[in-house]
Amino acid sequence: MKVCKFGGTSVASAEQVKKVAAIVQSDEQRRFVVVSAPGKRDSADIKVTDLLIDLANAVIAGEEIEDKIQAVVKRYEENAQGLGLDREISDIIEADLRTRCEQAIKVSPEYVLDSLKASGEDNNAKMIAMYFNSIGIEARYVSPKEGLVVNEPPARTMALSEAYNNLSSLKDSNEIIVFPGFFGYTAQGVLRTFDRGGSDITGAILAAAVGADIYENFTDVDCVFSANPKVVNNPAEITEITYREMRELSYAGFSVFHDEALMPVFKLKIPVNIKNTNNPASPGTRIVSESTINRRPVTGISADAGFSILYVSKYLMNREIGFGRKLLQILEEENISYEHTPSGLDDISVIIRSHQVDPEKEQRIVKRVYDELHADDVHFRHGFSMIVVVGEGMNNNTGLAARAATAISRTGANIEMINQGSSEVSLSFGVKQQFEDAILKALYEEFFQPVNV
Ligand code: ASP
Repeated sequence: MKVCKFGGTSVASAEQVKKVAAIVQSDEQRRFVVVSAPGKRDSADIKVTDLLIDLANAVIAGEEIEDKIQAVVKRYEENAQGLGLDREISDIIEADLRTRCEQAIKVSPEYVLDSLKASGEDNNAKMIAMYFNSIGIEARYVSPKEGLVVNEPPARTMALSEAYNNLSSLKDSNEIIVFPGFFGYTAQGVLRTFDRGGSDITGAILAAAVGADIYENFTDVDCVFSANPKVVNNPAEITEITYREMRELSYAGFSVFHDEALMPVFKLKIPVNIKNTNNPASPGTRIVSESTINRRPVTGISADAGFSILYVSKYLMNREIGFGRKLLQILEEENISYEHTPSGLDDISVIIRSHQVDPEKEQRIVKRVYDELHADDVHFRHGFSMIVVVGEGMNNNTGLAARAATAISRTGANIEMINQGSSEVSLSFGVKQQFEDAILKALYEEFFQPVNV
């Protein structure tokens, strides 16, 4: 049994939805179809989710919304027409949008955003189920209301454990289930969306709930590449990658698959297959619990900008019990999550995502660390990128760190932070943002270009 998730570009137009239907029809194991909202049809296009966010912001600001509603409806109308569906479906979608606009504003601005964003996938799933039936595929739209229970705000949206139980009975359905991605409902019945790209998460939850043999994630590329193809020319294709490797790569920039989506499938060791809707014959990339093939030590290299470093030094820090905890507690109280904490005897750096701080917050943190921890030096530095070299084979290979550092030195960049110790599958470097691309190319050349399998 297979759960298949189709991303935004896979359901962007009538032509794409027809490909989805053909993929589903070509394999009777494909019993569950999770869909995104219609995405971009070409690079200049706007995703329906973004149109809906625009609409939600106008509703919240009390601005004119007519054009914005029409912009969304038009996308569905065009698809409905191309699929030979009755015009009535776009009237239903329009009415649904108006109801959401009117009712959600009575609840809260956050709810307006959630409700409208979710309508993108919800209406698309209804329409695709209708299309499937119209061409003879027995299908049924199922709402996340039927069991995808999520936590209460303000914590980030996550499925609760009972969601898996609730959804498990869907495996006995005789019809193909068409399920909208991206949202669930709290125990009180309030709709909440996952983070952007969250339909991957819905697909994984469903795959785990029904005990799928495989979770197929259809997108618009043949596979995951070993480095960003926008920076590195023709990077090697990854045919197989472990969950741990994928997690490390998607942490720093690999956006093909949402990192949170690995959690539900990881526990049950359900393999994930990234595939291309536009080229379904290509085997794609398999994400598995343990690698089955012999590979080179480095599987992929990722890079992501937007990191800041909080540097703290205090003489004899290493002897002070509780220093690290108190420092991290200050960050916790400021609602900041941290990524790495490389430390020396008398100093510690806390690496965080820059978007979490503003100048006011920074000042407050610096002052508190001076006042409460009596540090000698406390300051923030900004504009860093993290470069992560990932591979299950790295631990058993001598000299990899030296090779990586030498390759980086060739670009003239200074390594501001290096972190290997705790992770068995990755080696991360903090560098000034302006060197990011040059370093990615240099590392790729070092580990992939000469034959060093
Ligand atoms: N449509 C949502 C987004 O654009 C969720 C998804 O496609 O996964 O983020």
